[in-house]
Amino acid sequence: MTNETAGRVLVAGGAGFIGSHLIDALVARGARVTCLDSFLTGRHVNLAHLAREPRFDLVEADVAEPLPALGRFDRVYNLACAASPPHYQADPQHTLMTCVLGTHHLLELARAGGGCFLQASTSEVYGDPEVHPQRETYWGNVNPIGPRACYDEGKRAAETLAFDARRVHGLDVRVARIFNTYGPRMRADDGRVVSNVVCQALANLPITVYGDGEQTRSFCYVDDLVEGLLRLMERPETPPGPVNLGNPREITVAALVGLVSRMTGTRSPVVRRPLPVDDPQRRRPDIARAQGLLDWQPTVALEAGLEATIAWFAQEIGQKVDQEIG
Ligand code: NAD
Ligand code: UDP
Repeated sequence: MTNETAGRVLVAGGAGFIGSHLIDALVARGARVTCLDSFLTGRHVNLAHLAREPRFDLVEADVAEPLPALGRFDRVYNLACAASPPHYQADPQHTLMTCVLGTHHLLELARAGGGCFLQASTSEVYGDPEVHPQRETYWGNVNPIGPRACYDEGKRAAETLAFDARRVHGLDVRVARIFNTYGPRMRADDGRVVSNVVCQALANLPITVYGDGEQTRSFCYVDDLVEGLLRLMERPETPPGPVNLGNPREITVAALVGLVSRMTGTRSPVVRRPLPVDDPQRRRPDIARAQGLLDWQPTVALEAGLEATIAWFAQEIGQKVDQEIG
């Protein structure tokens, strides 16, 4: 992997958690980056440090609508879509349209400019998996009419659009199936487990465990994930299919809560809440394909990643309290 990423790059969804870290890495590698975002869940503060960066610009638009004139790009990353269940379920039709129409618009943009396209897909395409760990060859177990379907089926349709663009138009497309990712710049009100548990622990509020806490996830630190996305996009040969990007260390929600509680020294009690409908019971990526094609694997241990995330949220929450008092 070189340190140079020349040319014009579009990051749709670049004001969000992962997108803003990706933009930082691209700018550091020398790319000229345009962020396209509707600020549905993204935040200006994630990009504020780039305000004076001449190689960065920002366009506010909704990818589900016809795109404004943007010029041509060598690379198009599509990360535009709310990723947290409460956020993507708030307006399910818009989530589905973001995945389908948004991906269609961005594929057309990449095609018009002769660029390469990367789709941020998700482990949710595997649904509540009957195969464990999940390999890219597994077709998944998704409820097409449940409350998660707007996101899961939307992302599956986006993959279909991407591979059809390759088959029909010869477009260079790459698809990353991203597993649960965490780190600084998640929103405190994001609703996902790491941000919820860390914020609750820091505020000594009850920690919410959905169901019995025995369901598992595998958490990848955002820096590792961004490195995987860059390697996938910059690999000279187009990979034959989607590539899982995630950390294979699997942990129960209850064990995650225990770890965060010890690390923060919280006084928070644990409270049980009902398990959401269609909540996957187990999830762990098989990353053999990423290791083989990209020479990539996560390097940040969960404890180290959580330490950085806890420190970031402590500052974030502290600032809010200061503002409210001041
Ligand atoms: P996020 O919600 O922080 O970021 C999503 C960004 O997309 C936000 O800036 C939001 O404003 C923008 N957006 C949403 N709808 C849009 C629209 N219609 N038009 C323009 N912009 C729009 O989420 P994230 O965690 O950074 O996720 C980024 C991408 O990675 C998403 O596509 C998500 O599906 C995928 N992903 C994330 C995870 C994870 O654990 N974080 C796991 C799997 C896949
Ligand atoms: N979860 C939980 N408490 C919370 C938020 C989530 O126990 O406050 C559980 C949730 O039910 C799921 C797991 O943690 O089993 C991961 O949830 P998240 O929303 O982070 O990601 P996803 O379900 O999309 O993988």
